[in-house]
Amino acid sequence: MTIEGLKQQQGQSNKWCNFAGVISQSSINEVMSRADIIDVIGQFVRLKKRGANYMANCPFHNEKSPSFNVSPAKGIYKCFGCGKAGNVVSFIQEHEKLTYPEAIRWLADYYKITLQETERSPEQIQQQMAGEALRILNEYAANYFHDYLLNSEEGQLIGMSYFKQRGFRKDIIEKFRLGYNAEQNDQFYNTAVSKGHNKELLAKAGLIKERNGFYHDVYRGRVIFPIQGMTGRVLGFGARILKSNEKAPKYINTPENELYLKSKILYGMYQSRNAIGKQDECFLVEGYTDVISLHQGGVENVVASSGTSLTEDQLRLIGQLTKNLTILYDGDAAGIKAALRGLDMALGQSFNVQLVLLPDGEDPDSFIQKSGAAQFHEFVKEHKQDVISFRLQIGMNEVGNDPVKKSKLVNEIAESISRINKAEDFALQDHYIRTASNKLQVDETGLINLVNKYIRDRIDNDTRHQQRRNEQAAPQLSEEDMAQAAAYEGSEPQPATPAAKEDLQEWALLRVLIEYGHMVYEGYESVARLIEERVDPSLLENEMVLKLYNEYFDHFTHFGGVPETHYFVNHPEPTVREKMASLLHHNTNISHNWKEKYGIESLNGAMTYVVDVDSTLSYFEFKKILKMEEELLKKISEEQDPAKQQRMQMKFVELRKMEKDILKRHRQVVFKSLKVK
Ligand code: ZN
Repeated sequence: MTIEGLKQQQGQSNKWCNFAGVISQSSINEVMSRADIIDVIGQFVRLKKRGANYMANCPFHNEKSPSFNVSPAKGIYKCFGCGKAGNVVSFIQEHEKLTYPEAIRWLADYYKITLQETERSPEQIQQQMAGEALRILNEYAANYFHDYLLNSEEGQLIGMSYFKQRGFRKDIIEKFRLGYNAEQNDQFYNTAVSKGHNKELLAKAGLIKERNGFYHDVYRGRVIFPIQGMTGRVLGFGARILKSNEKAPKYINTPENELYLKSKILYGMYQSRNAIGKQDECFLVEGYTDVISLHQGGVENVVASSGTSLTEDQLRLIGQLTKNLTILYDGDAAGIKAALRGLDMALGQSFNVQLVLLPDGEDPDSFIQKSGAAQFHEFVKEHKQDVISFRLQIGMNEVGNDPVKKSKLVNEIAESISRINKAEDFALQDHYIRTASNKLQVDETGLINLVNKYIRDRIDNDTRHQQRRNEQAAPQLSEEDMAQAAAYEGSEPQPATPAAKEDLQEWALLRVLIEYGHMVYEGYESVARLIEERVDPSLLENEMVLKLYNEYFDHFTHFGGVPETHYFVNHPEPTVREKMASLLHHNTNISHNWKEKYGIESLNGAMTYVVDVDSTLSYFEFKKILKMEEELLKKISEEQDPAKQQRMQMKFVELRKMEKDILKRHRQVVFKSLKVK
């Protein structure tokens, strides 16, 4: 049975490896043991320590207060808002939209681990190529262009001259992996194809184009700015023309493809992410060269939206690192328009948005080069303007005497003001209303009413939104709430069906095994031995619980020790991994609530596990007694011999007494539900 179980388990995991493609189990183990969940998740979101865990605003849904929880001890995360949960691999899978093997590769890449890969079939190579080809190709192209800039005559003569003229230092050129592509029609194309890259993909990546059956490079005679994602992967390119007399567009960007999603990319995010977190502020500029110049000048917390107005997704990227957004813009009309768009969205996402108008004729690039970092910071500090004042100033200039335009502006301003969270900053909102009514020369009460209308509209909207989300999330959360509550004495009755409660108790048993299996228990070598002896597995009705229960004890019997938590947290089956993350995480998280609600001491207390084990165990003993009673009653009704019948009845009374004892010991309301069936 045990050997059989182990074989089965190995079979599964082999199958899973083959399916994953190619990475050996030992490599996966190495990656898993090296990957630090705080380190990895910290690359994407701003984690704040809270007790033994870390909190952040969830990267998977939009939220204002953090409900995304990471437990370093257990190696798992869980969002109490949207329910997403898992381990370090699932996080990378989910966040970077990767398959399991791709996520393992990502982590191996990050930790500089060389993966051992088993032999691959042509189909597997094909499959893997299809998935990662764009990434590989972009990386190749970025290296090619960078190398061409540094090491070719034309690159030096044309590309390098341009960058030098812009004042870029070599270290900065390397930091941003800047490049150059030859003017010749198809030099990159020919080289790339000779290295085995295929035409369709090159075209998809926007690097080559077909005309009359011939392929040519798209970025001819252009300097190249690789656009990197949060983790440094090259997602696409921006390429600037150098000859001014051509009719071609000044910049060419990668077309949208699986990797290059313009609305989700901010230029400079990779180079700036640490500084943004550290300074707790993000500067937003328009162009690539603005970002690069600021970095060179020592201002490293800056990203560019690359000309497009800010999108919700871009704001979310920034919002994971800081809520302080400062927009630097120059005085031309286009710059102002660009700065204005997306601002309401930023206010809506609880950003503290400030705007800084640069001196006449300067853009961030020229300004930092002239002024240097110290003067730059001083200027920014002195000229920071909040969104509402900015809007008013710009709007008033445009409106003039036009009543229609004015009414539109009043509405816009009212909406912007309404987005400032009233609870957080009532005085500020008040201040803006007074200023605006003054400048716009409208009645203050009228403006207040207008602001209130916008707030009301939004609350209605949010409420509907929230309701929908609750409807989705509620069953999951309350189920676990109950599982936890049910495992403790004094928990309140929950309105669940008996069947659902049984299910929860079964999961609770598994949790107790995983968390405390290795600990000693009075009279037993370990909690695992105690449960092995006292719980009848035939009472387990949930298939997954039974399967994992058996896996647990197979491991125990075979290796002489209980499987560690990470065995289940990193289980080959995704459904198990997800369930484990919820099951194990919730435990430590709501314990504070229980303390208040039920007077239960912290779970981390040295001996509380005994209580936990006891009550879980009692449930199964209780269940067993009920089952025996039921069987006995059936036998009594069928028994013809009065003497035998009487003995059975005595036995029944005994069982009832045992039943009552357990109830008295635990007073667990949830047990009673079993009898309701
Ligand atoms: Zn979430």
